[in-house]
Amino acid sequence: MSEPISRIVVIGGGQAAGWACKTLREEGFGGTLTVVADEPHDFYERPPLSKAVLSGDASLPRLFPEDDVAGWSIDWRRPKRATHIDSHAHTVTLDDGERLAYDRLLIATGATPRLPDPRWAEHDDVLTLRSWDDAQRLKRRLADARRLAVVGGGWIGLEVAATARRLGLEVEVFERQAALCARSVGPEVSEALAALHLRENVALRLNCGDVAITPLASGVRITSDVHDTQADLAVVGTGVDFGLELAREAGVATQQGIVVDQAGATSVADIFAAGDVTQHPVLGQCLQSWGYAQNQAIAAARGLLGKAAAYDDPAWLWSDQYGTNIQILGTPCPDTRCVVRQEPLGTSFFYLDAADRLCQAVTFDQPRHIKLAKRWLAARRVLDPDMLGDPTSNLMRLR
Ligand code: NAP
Repeated sequence: MSEPISRIVVIGGGQAAGWACKTLREEGFGGTLTVVADEPHDFYERPPLSKAVLSGDASLPRLFPEDDVAGWSIDWRRPKRATHIDSHAHTVTLDDGERLAYDRLLIATGATPRLPDPRWAEHDDVLTLRSWDDAQRLKRRLADARRLAVVGGGWIGLEVAATARRLGLEVEVFERQAALCARSVGPEVSEALAALHLRENVALRLNCGDVAITPLASGVRITSDVHDTQADLAVVGTGVDFGLELAREAGVATQQGIVVDQAGATSVADIFAAGDVTQHPVLGQCLQSWGYAQNQAIAAARGLLGKAAAYDDPAWLWSDQYGTNIQILGTPCPDTRCVVRQEPLGTSFFYLDAADRLCQAVTFDQPRHIKLAKRWLAARRVLDPDMLGDPTSNLMRLR
């Protein structure tokens, strides 16, 4: 018979950690639940940071009501960092030297913004956006700025660009690829994103090569292969680091992220992992989205307690830019063709494989289509491309 679980340590205080704690308590875990978080705040949501929070919302976008979190009797260690895991002794050492014993450990350490040049971290006028504190700092700086340079035309970069335009700043985006968000969407969607930003007078510098940032007496100079400019500040959204050393040193298998099974278990006994730092157990890549951080963490918490869990949700993320809601279901697949459906309400892009099965759907202001696409994807439904692309056809008939 397996040993009873009386001490669980969670490393990380983000969305995945929050959903794991909620699930552990709701599933009846009554032992000591310790959370090691490097931020002093209760669990909060990140999606509003680049939008509502930068635009003025002053309150922490709590993930759960304060009373609920208080009711979980979390034994917080914050702001603290875990520096070492001893998987044989079942202990976690913190940066203040404290050693915590665990029966089960959950690693939910998220990710941190990656800077192309580490020296950029020393410039006061170069900022990144990941945490509530980052958002507060950026909000203050945007209030005084007139010109913003954004390095990286991915999701962070585009969301910050959209908010900054709404705040009245001039915005230039420098992207290394020939297209925006090229890792996560096809060229047709990249073009639609570019059109959205060009319509709002954002200057797009694609194929920009290596960007150099030089501090000036006031602001920064951005030098690139395609354009040079000066700005009051630069925001960098060029991807993330997963900080995998902690897990690796404990013997946990990693690839792009921590390798987990569908119940969140890692390669090391009694160590589980959840959220951005893990790679999807079936797709084998790090997804870093709100939906993944929630639902995979719920599965990992159940798995950690020895309950049934089999996480295999498709990739799904959303972004709001200039009031347009963009949703992405699935990941890009090779050799697909794109069927575009243009309706008065918005446009949807359906990527079909050679057998006319859906690989990815991207919608602009068409959330209904994502709901349908989730069913088609789950059922591996063969679709009629002509009907899909015909705005007068009734997609409900494809249910
Ligand atoms: P991202 O979406 O991966 O985009 C980063 C972009 O910057 C990529 O196109 C990348 O090109 C480009 N880039 C990299 N180095 C560069 C350089 N030196 N100069 C110019 N461009 C460069 O990453 P992110 O925007 O930083 O966001 C971080 C993570 O959070 C991502 O995984 C993202 O999906 C997630 N996120 C999600 C949402 C949402 O769900 N709405 C919102 C914000 C962030 P390469 O492909 O060549 O590296």
